[in-house]
Amino acid sequence: MNYERIKEKLNILADAAKYDVSCASSGSKRTNKNKGLGNSSGMGICHSYTEDGRCVSLLKILLTNYCIFDCAYCVTRKSNDIPRAAFKVQEVVDLTIAFYRRNYIEGLFLSSGIFKNADYTMERLIAVAKKLRKEENFNGYIHLKSIPGASDALMREAGLYADRLSVNIEIPSVEGLKLLAPDKKRNDFLRPMEKVKNEIIQYRSERKIIKNTPVYAPAGQSTQMIIGAAGETDAEIMYNSAYLYKKYNLKRVYYSGYIPISYDARLPSIGTNVPLLRENRLYQTDWLLRFYGFDIRELLSKEHPNLDSDIDPKLSWALRNLALFPVDINKADRGMIARVPGIGLKSVHKILQARRFRRLHWDHLKALGIAANRAKYFIVCDAPSFETKDRTAAQIKGLILQESKHKFRGMLNGQLNLFDPVTPMVG
Ligand code: SF4
Repeated sequence: MNYERIKEKLNILADAAKYDVSCASSGSKRTNKNKGLGNSSGMGICHSYTEDGRCVSLLKILLTNYCIFDCAYCVTRKSNDIPRAAFKVQEVVDLTIAFYRRNYIEGLFLSSGIFKNADYTMERLIAVAKKLRKEENFNGYIHLKSIPGASDALMREAGLYADRLSVNIEIPSVEGLKLLAPDKKRNDFLRPMEKVKNEIIQYRSERKIIKNTPVYAPAGQSTQMIIGAAGETDAEIMYNSAYLYKKYNLKRVYYSGYIPISYDARLPSIGTNVPLLRENRLYQTDWLLRFYGFDIRELLSKEHPNLDSDIDPKLSWALRNLALFPVDINKADRGMIARVPGIGLKSVHKILQARRFRRLHWDHLKALGIAANRAKYFIVCDAPSFETKDRTAAQIKGLILQESKHKFRGMLNGQLNLFDPVTPMVG
């Protein structure tokens, strides 16, 4: 092996892969068998994140950054004058095994520019995964990117070796796609998604009858959308996500703030500001849809097409629906308690457990970990309802923001490390 050349390729192709954020390796249960290598479940997988929150726990590379397409937002696009490289299939296999043995990685995230056409490239991605599984007996996590437009037969094969498959939607609207990625059609993404969904369902049902049916993409499929490159509203983005989750059983939609890497007249001029806050609000909304029982129409609509940037989407919804509050914490059902700003799902569970034994008052709730500064305006418990009386949504919002500002100052005085990762949770 020419180590210098491999190192050079690695530099180029790992760097080019960093813009893809859809690489969390959760959800797979592939276990080690036949004394093979690796284990994608349990303690076998750990994640680490760069300072901008991107997952780096897998060997995350492109097979090549040559590409026949010219998507405006992409560093790899054919018109961009950058150093190019391509790995051979065996080189990726050898690197994965070498890094795994050294304990550097827990698995592989493999994407690619498009060499000649979609199928030619997809065949090579599959060949890497197949060699790892069949020849190296590798049981670590493999996430393969599906090339838009790849054939059904290849999508079927890919899922037999990969834990997760993903095909990136990239631009949420058809008009945006036409403008920024004119070589791609929306159906090039949707058809492989449909195929993967059907194969997952079919393999699962066959496995119930024939135990030795192989697993197919056990960690499901995901996608990524680039945010802020084509001028979509948050409503357009999230309605798209809601549709994709429902129609294609996606495990995750990832939102990647558009990074202005190089000039292209088709792109908006946003300086060097990556819209991280917007990204964060979209993740919070996504969370509300998947785990809190919200319907997309409650959070975003024609009249309310964008999320508030200064407050989280659950609080924003609650302020628009003050007539539903206060919620009696000792009587309300699980779904309604989960809708109270400042009460996350873990706290909901604790509240339901605790109230089986006693009526809850304010101190109990604080001890259960609710965010009192937000929740106090929306609940009643065994204490006087002291916060909700006669206050408008604007007044409550003002008070919460003021209190958050004081708290933040206090944390700064208390040596908050600004570079500590902040998890985009809702509660
Ligand atoms: S097809 Fe993929 S790799 Fe090629 S330019 Fe478009 S986004 Fe980039």
